[in-house]
Amino acid sequence: MKVIKFNARAIRDTREDSTIEISLKTNFGEFVSSAPNGKSRGKSEAKPWKESLKEDVEFVNNYFIEGIIFKKFEDLETLEDIFSSNVGANTMIAIEYVFLKALAKEQGKEVWELINSRASKLPYPVGNAIGGGKHSEGKKPDFQEFHFIPITNFSEAVEINKRAWENCKEILKNVDANFKEKTNDENAWQTSLGNEQVLEVMKNVRDNMKDEFGVKIHLGIDVAGSSFYNRGKYNYQNPKNNLIKKDQIKLINKIVKDIFYLEDPLEENDFIGFSKLQSNGLIVGDDLTTTNLERLKIAHLKKSINAIIIKPNQIGSLIEVEKIVDYCKKNKIKMIFSHRSGETSDSILADLCFGFQGEFIKTGIKGKGRDEKLNRLIEIERRL
Ligand code: PEP
Ligand code: MG
Repeated sequence: MKVIKFNARAIRDTREDSTIEISLKTNFGEFVSSAPNGKSRGKSEAKPWKESLKEDVEFVNNYFIEGIIFKKFEDLETLEDIFSSNVGANTMIAIEYVFLKALAKEQGKEVWELINSRASKLPYPVGNAIGGGKHSEGKKPDFQEFHFIPITNFSEAVEINKRAWENCKEILKNVDANFKEKTNDENAWQTSLGNEQVLEVMKNVRDNMKDEFGVKIHLGIDVAGSSFYNRGKYNYQNPKNNLIKKDQIKLINKIVKDIFYLEDPLEENDFIGFSKLQSNGLIVGDDLTTTNLERLKIAHLKKSINAIIIKPNQIGSLIEVEKIVDYCKKNKIKMIFSHRSGETSDSILADLCFGFQGEFIKTGIKGKGRDEKLNRLIEIERRL
């Protein structure tokens, strides 16, 4: 691959926050990639920028990269050797993305084939239909996300999620006197209802959809426990309630009976607390594990989780992501490849999820920054 031009610039994500876009021109064409931004971030995530986005952009634009040897996925290590100590995780991941796209083109392959040419199983979409916490405004549920997870082929599952999203709107119009038909950062409905009422709406919609489509539809929640935890207490606002750790565990154990997917139900350092949760479904680490192999190992050894969110820009290294995937496969930990709340039009997350054979993808139900990933997986499914 002969590099002709390699540039960075600042762009806006779907929330209008600034993020990075990298373009690469080679003798095989021009390629563009970008990195998303999180808002409900884990404390142990890598920093998005070394010092600032501006300085990362300048570093890339001043770097003379012409002679690089880049022939396979593992050569990402060369890029990491050059850049990772000079730029932040967002910039690093966008650089890796753009080189993978260029390599795929050069070899006449899809990006997912560079990871695993024998990948065959599509993930199930985890669709955020109603939202609260840090992603919403005003009076809102304290939990951050309420999901539907239809267990069927990918394209039908996406259709079901879209219908479920519409149905949530119709029910919210009837049961939430303050409902303004507004969506949040991830295009999930904003509501003034509390957690338990939202769960009633979700169950209602789920049961109707199940009858109509005849497929299993699971429910999920991202509690994002750290976002309302302070000095030993979970501070609920809607309705007001302060719970100490023991009572939070009790509450979650009560709720979880009908919930298949439970993400970050406790604050991000409570590895032991996670292990006390009783679930027949998935206990998922996000802020707990932050796509970090060392934290994943602790979580696995302490039996905190049986599933993990993989957000490549939490760690800023696809080489690390690959190590995490290997660990998960060895230890039967389910993988959920995930968007961030502030997204871009880049669809590469879909290729990563499919190539690494993640069991689930969490990338919203519809809208800008979400459709691109869903449509890409629909395309992959159609071509198989
Ligand atoms: C999440 O917590 O799962 C999430 C997507 O949040 P954010 O991207 O805002 O960190
Ligand atoms: Mg989360």
